[in-house]
Amino acid sequence: MPPVRQPSCGEDDDAVGRNDVTQTRTRLISVEEGFIIPEVVDELRRLAGGVPSMKSGPIAGPFMPKLLDIGAGRIAEMDADGVDIQILSLSAPGVQKFDPDTALSLARLANDSLSGAIKAHPDRFAGLAVAPPQAPAEAAKELERAVTKLGLKGLIVNSHTGDEYLDDPKFCPLLEAVEALGVPLYIHPREPGAGLWDGLMAMTGFTVGWAYAVETGTHALRMIAAGVFERFPKLQIVLGHLGEGIPFMLQRIDNRYPFEIGVTGRTPLPRKPSEYFRTNFTVATSGMNFAAPMRAAIDILGADRIMFAADHPMEDQKAVVEEYLAIPLTDAERRQISELTARRVFKIAV
Ligand code: MN
Repeated sequence: MPPVRQPSCGEDDDAVGRNDVTQTRTRLISVEEGFIIPEVVDELRRLAGGVPSMKSGPIAGPFMPKLLDIGAGRIAEMDADGVDIQILSLSAPGVQKFDPDTALSLARLANDSLSGAIKAHPDRFAGLAVAPPQAPAEAAKELERAVTKLGLKGLIVNSHTGDEYLDDPKFCPLLEAVEALGVPLYIHPREPGAGLWDGLMAMTGFTVGWAYAVETGTHALRMIAAGVFERFPKLQIVLGHLGEGIPFMLQRIDNRYPFEIGVTGRTPLPRKPSEYFRTNFTVATSGMNFAAPMRAAIDILGADRIMFAADHPMEDQKAVVEEYLAIPLTDAERRQISELTARRVFKIAV
């Protein structure tokens, strides 16, 4: 093997190869990037009965052409916008609204398509598997196939499945598989489940900006509260939107938890809620390109628990990158959030 050549002063490190471990330029890895396949669109459309709404998934949006492109058009846009690697995942609500058999076969199809796109562009794309939580044992098997055979880097679940959350013991086989495979579970927002729907959906215009965060943040806290991370101490969760509001509330949650547990006479968790959040969670920016919450997230969690995400195509990727680069960060924080945290969490080697 030839010796690894060091980039000389001022030389673009691409000249010595993208995979070169001596690279000096920070790569921008974007970790919550949507795609869809026509078969899933057809099934969502069938379920919605031709009446798109906030509840019917991406068919309601103008995002379809970009969601369907996991090839040259997407890469041209990444080049123009300054994104080196996108970590792709099937757009919300994934396969979670379908009957178990349909969901499983569409999950296989989506994972195979994704794997094909990654194989065609291995230095630009990585991806997360989709698997139907409504069939936990089958989902665990599909995840194993997607990780070990297809090389996918984790699992994405779009919050509740049929109004049930991952703290329900029925989902244990899936969480067991995630932990055993050593890959992260990305809990992505979707519209609120039945228990939260009436309150959160009473305000038109606040669904994505608030209801999604409450739904998804509540999901994460349910898992902490139920002791999921005592049962699965190595389980790693990723949340978008700088943690769906949780980092901002962590100290207050810790502060009121022992009092409230004491009053109700229950047995407390052996650790503070914040300790599980700091140990078992990493957050992505995905549309939170604002200096103040970013600084708070760094102070509360550390840059090694934060990753960049554009949320393409739901957000304007070019604007998101510009906003992110305008946030004042130290060089070390920038490198960590742009690249290093994502490399560690998703085991990205290219
Ligand atoms: Mn998203």
